[in-house]
Amino acid sequence: MVAVCLNINSMKKLFLLMLGALSLNCVQAQRKTQNIIIVTLDGLRWQEVFRGADSALIASKFTEDKDGVKKKYWAASSAERRKTLMPFLWSEINKQGQIYGNRDLGNKDEVANPYRFSYPGYNEIFTGFPDKRMNTNDPITNPNMNVLEFINKQKGYQGKVVAFASWERFPQILNAKRSGLPIYSGYADVKNADANERIKYLNELQDNVPHYLGDSTRLDFISFEYTKEYIKQYKPKVVYLGFDETDDMAHEGNYSAYLDRTRQEDGYIKALWNMVQNTPGYKGNTTLLITCDHGRGEQPVETWRSHGEDVKGSEQTWFAVLGPDTPPTGEITTATTTYHKQLAQTISLLLGFDFKKSAGHEVGDAIETVIKK
Ligand SMILES: [Zn+2]
Repeated sequence: MVAVCLNINSMKKLFLLMLGALSLNCVQAQRKTQNIIIVTLDGLRWQEVFRGADSALIASKFTEDKDGVKKKYWAASSAERRKTLMPFLWSEINKQGQIYGNRDLGNKDEVANPYRFSYPGYNEIFTGFPDKRMNTNDPITNPNMNVLEFINKQKGYQGKVVAFASWERFPQILNAKRSGLPIYSGYADVKNADANERIKYLNELQDNVPHYLGDSTRLDFISFEYTKEYIKQYKPKVVYLGFDETDDMAHEGNYSAYLDRTRQEDGYIKALWNMVQNTPGYKGNTTLLITCDHGRGEQPVETWRSHGEDVKGSEQTWFAVLGPDTPPTGEITTATTTYHKQLAQTISLLLGFDFKKSAGHEVGDAIETVIKK
């Protein structure tokens, strides 16, 4: 007989509480994302993403076969050029998702860390914290909690988070020891005893293909193939796929290979997206986030090869989102600045979890425009 004992004030409070619980449930019920795929293209500039191939770089010593590159990637307008370079991004994602960072339109996306190279960049994306201590690409274990580790602890997500990356540094960046996440980066094999024949074949293949990028970075197509096969067999709910070759080709000073890798990886992402749309459990409830870890220089032209604290413009980045909770506004034209330290909380909120509250360190606020009200 509890209700009889409640006075009017308590009843009011109870009613408000129930209303609050109801509206919270509504917010969660409205959100459709249950799976997230995060893809990074290391050091791919916003300049190519939004303008397509760069005439100054094609004309420079960094492009050997100028006619060949023009034939493949040149068109009169930047709208045509970027679509030639990244057809999936500029058709499907531009129509149904969002693309941030076109500075030509006044929309800016940046890394907040001052270092502008890989480890600090990935640390910022996954921990939401541009921690000044993370100023190295060395195998230093990251003390900060990351959003993948956090999601892996949530109900329904345990054992359902996985990372594949071409660069070998991710067990440290994502603190594999503490997080317990399966992280297959560099030339790491998938050692699961029940792994299917195709995964076992990839374990064999990656040893035998030429290690053009040295022994610390495998070729991106291997990371891509692993990711596909792993999704088919194990049905993870959160997948990170880290490509590397765009950065490698730029450091090499090979502009044509940089463009080739960009176009092919746009195709990998398209294939991955189409695959999950046809895989039970993923259709209509999966969000795709694509971004990079840092920008590169623009002026003078040779600074394209590099990035870092001293390279002007290498804080300038971009990101794209496609999914059932993201308004299909396409290329963002508002004069706003987003930061990569905001991506971790954005990823978390898309799944209905509050990473910022539990991270134990500073975390950037979610990017509200990514998530439908
Ligand atoms: Zn680099």
